[in-house]
Amino acid sequence: MANEAYEAVIGLEVHTHLLTRSKLFCGCAAGFGAGPNENVCPVCMGMPGVLPVLNRYAVELALRMAFAAHSEVQPYSVFARKSYFYPDLPKGYQISQYELPLCKGGYIEIGNGGQPRRIRLVRIHMEEDAGKNIHEADSSLVDFNRSGVPLVEIVSEPDLRSADEAGAYLRELRAILRYVGASEGRMEEGDFRCDVNVSIRRKGSAELGTKTEIKNLNSFRFVEKAIAYEVSRQVAILESGGRIVQETHLWDPVREQTRPMRSKEFANDYRYFPEPDLPPLRLDAEMIEQVKVSMPELPAQRRERYQHELGLSAYEGAVLTEDKEVADYFESLLLVGLNNPKTAANWTMSEVLRALNESGKTLGQAVPPASETGALLKMVEETTLSLNAAKTAFAMMCKSGRGASATVDEMGLVQVSDEAVIAAACDQVITAEREKVAEYRAGREKLFGFFVGRVMKAMGGKGNPKIVNDLLRRRLAGN
Ligand code: ADP
Ligand code: MG
Ligand code: ZN
Repeated sequence: MANEAYEAVIGLEVHTHLLTRSKLFCGCAAGFGAGPNENVCPVCMGMPGVLPVLNRYAVELALRMAFAAHSEVQPYSVFARKSYFYPDLPKGYQISQYELPLCKGGYIEIGNGGQPRRIRLVRIHMEEDAGKNIHEADSSLVDFNRSGVPLVEIVSEPDLRSADEAGAYLRELRAILRYVGASEGRMEEGDFRCDVNVSIRRKGSAELGTKTEIKNLNSFRFVEKAIAYEVSRQVAILESGGRIVQETHLWDPVREQTRPMRSKEFANDYRYFPEPDLPPLRLDAEMIEQVKVSMPELPAQRRERYQHELGLSAYEGAVLTEDKEVADYFESLLLVGLNNPKTAANWTMSEVLRALNESGKTLGQAVPPASETGALLKMVEETTLSLNAAKTAFAMMCKSGRGASATVDEMGLVQVSDEAVIAAACDQVITAEREKVAEYRAGREKLFGFFVGRVMKAMGGKGNPKIVNDLLRRRLAGN
């Protein structure tokens, strides 16, 4: 922050799609990729006279999120109408939860470099998404495919203190959502969106300042930039004797600044009232228990396990577990019999993540199956392949889709460990470099590296380095 006298106070409201096949209150498909208005029916188009029917699986996914976030599941919650007008909302109201949400409280733990910090949650509730307006040069279009897709909204207490912390919180939240299978959390697709509430106060003060809210950010980078911008804007206002006005802002990614929405657009009177077309949501203890016992391993638990059972560092654990698919891949490498978790961890963190990031594809498309990568790493372990040769082979396998042994053969990468072959190469170099050998034997031991280089070159780089070193040292010593 520009001014050390102030502290930022941030609370986030995250909306994320639940990974259901069908929408929250009708049978229409909830996935992406269909043509405009293909996944619609009278319910999600807001026709009069239709009745919503709750998707139980969406509730189950929301409960998984609740357990992962240590949030208190409410056996009795109520859907409510949130009324506002917008062309992508044909009913004129969104079905949400208000006074009695599905879950209260909870927390998300963030690493924050050192000491873990608990960011408390206010609530987690369910609601339906709206459609999507598409503005073109001379017309505006509406696509209702997204209308009625189930969302959970996760509201944090104003516990975050910097843009970095907000980023760490969002990453952990998204990781959890993906681990429990509640959401894919894809920001590019608008799966995972965030409203950012920001205020500042004098350091040491316990009171909250007036906040502004920045709506609908759909990338981590935008969230971090918007917070930094908004904090310095507020500091400048207070420093010049001004007053912060509570208002809603939009982030302009081109100008990299926030600007207020016109006040009419966010008149905040939603006139919530209980949804008369849906009964209150009653969860019996059995259903709650069933979800609880079927909870999968969470990112934090996996990090623990990597540190304590596999001997990896906290940093390695954090990098490997951020994306569940990457962590699963790492574990598959261990399953194919690699003796050393460090080898698999290093390979995943360098080669696998690089291939993933450079290709822009999904993990399954970007890298060979773990069995093939494992076979390659086994060759390194058994010293039939140098580490560098393995990297070359891996890059090729990512492109060609061919297996490990075929690739190593085709590229002629196998490391030579045959002592007779290596000894012959050593002798050849010793004969060709009589003068240098004499110098070495007279005490210029630094020349050893030179001889290793020559032998390796003579062998096309494929000599097993350990055997080359051993044999060369013995032969130079004259025996
Ligand atoms: P609103 O009624 O404006 O939506 P809420 O009290 O429901 O406000 O809070 C919405 C979000 O704003 C929550 O994430 C909360 O933590 C955050 N928030 C509330 N007050 C502040 C504040 N003074 N500064 C920063 N964030 C705040
Ligand atoms: Mg809000
Ligand atoms: Zn529908």
